[in-house]
Amino acid sequence: MAKVKTTFYCQKCGAQYAKWQGKCNSCGDWNTIVEELVAKPDKKDWKTSASKEAKKLARPLLIAEIETTPHDRLNTGNNELNRVLGGGLVPGSLTLLGGEPGIGKSTLLLQISLQLKYKVLYVSGEESQQQIKMRAERIDPNPANCFILTETKTQNIFRQVEEIEPEVVIIDSIQTLHSDYIESAPGSISQIRECTAELIKFAKESNTPVILIGHITKEGSIAGPKVLEHMVDTVLQFEGDRNHVYRILRAHKNRFGSTHELGIYEMQGSGLREVNNPSEILISENDEDLSGTAIASTLEGMRPLMIEIQALVSTAVYGTPQRSTTGYNAKRLNMLLAVLEKRAGFRLGAKDVFLNVTGGISVDDPAIDLAVVAAILSSNEDIALPKDICFAAEIGLAGEVRPVTRVEQRILEAEKLGFASIMVSKQNKFPKSEYNIRIVKVSKIEDVVSHLFE
Ligand SMILES: [Zn+2]
Repeated sequence: MAKVKTTFYCQKCGAQYAKWQGKCNSCGDWNTIVEELVAKPDKKDWKTSASKEAKKLARPLLIAEIETTPHDRLNTGNNELNRVLGGGLVPGSLTLLGGEPGIGKSTLLLQISLQLKYKVLYVSGEESQQQIKMRAERIDPNPANCFILTETKTQNIFRQVEEIEPEVVIIDSIQTLHSDYIESAPGSISQIRECTAELIKFAKESNTPVILIGHITKEGSIAGPKVLEHMVDTVLQFEGDRNHVYRILRAHKNRFGSTHELGIYEMQGSGLREVNNPSEILISENDEDLSGTAIASTLEGMRPLMIEIQALVSTAVYGTPQRSTTGYNAKRLNMLLAVLEKRAGFRLGAKDVFLNVTGGISVDDPAIDLAVVAAILSSNEDIALPKDICFAAEIGLAGEVRPVTRVEQRILEAEKLGFASIMVSKQNKFPKSEYNIRIVKVSKIEDVVSHLFE
């Protein structure tokens, strides 16, 4: 009979303690430590397990001896997901899909399940089979290989897995699962840890890829476990504004590929549509000349992306001017405003400034600085910028226009989309001199002002 053992876990970061304390030493939060019952099955004799493992034990190899066979990846039938994963699902891998509630994680994975050419087991602890069927019918009325199971106990899930032998397993969500080996409630740190460990063991032994959905807390971390992020092979994040139709899928961790790729989807009544040419959707098609908008040529992963920046500068109504941003770092905006004030003599200190990256996406490429500055100046002067110019440069504290990475790719994208000119830093080196687009080279904020408004 296993002795009832309890351990204390921080529910926020997963740190483990022998006794209760008020503050977590690891993440510094108060009142997050909770006692959880842990009943471990008796450990196996290390000798038997050692001899069993011995055959599979890795031994050191010379570099020349190591065989590099590319992973045989499973095509998910979804180009955006394939790209973010680095080419498809790796057999035996564990992928975690995180995102805020209601953002469309279940829709995305249900859609993938229906599209896959492989036999899929979709396990839901959140919805009944009837509810899932109703949603599935809206997405694809005639799926072939998708099995739906409503279950939350891991041992029962594995029993069904043995029966139908799926090629891909999807779990919605890890927070609803519980294992018999642990006595604490579903969603607690020890349950999440144990269930994930069981799933990893299953994935590695059967070479079946498993995708888990993980909910995100208000603070933006995947609920409960940092632990969970460390255990899985790939962490994907599904983000976007619930009120906007666009969703972005990006990899935060990827053992089998880069974390720079980005997938863009449009939420429709019938599911998520892949957006293959994102530049076109992120630029508004408005024929009127409006002041305060500028187009930035940015890169998300390997893919160039043209995005529209909108600024509104107005005289502050209240004593303290308001600064507000959507999709752009607010501190960075304050810095750019200070640079404009100090280096170019614009009196923006008493103005309200609102900044918005259209489409509800969030960008951290410094190359959009110049477009942000152009949009602010355009709104401040109330002069619309030409519609056929775009921008790609960073702004430094001295008011200098700094070069950006892979400028050629940005220029080519602007050229492809029919822009007449692009403004970049004078210091950027160009591999070739001939483009079908006019390249405006600037080195200081003053140059930008004189070029655009004089
Ligand atoms: Zn903690």
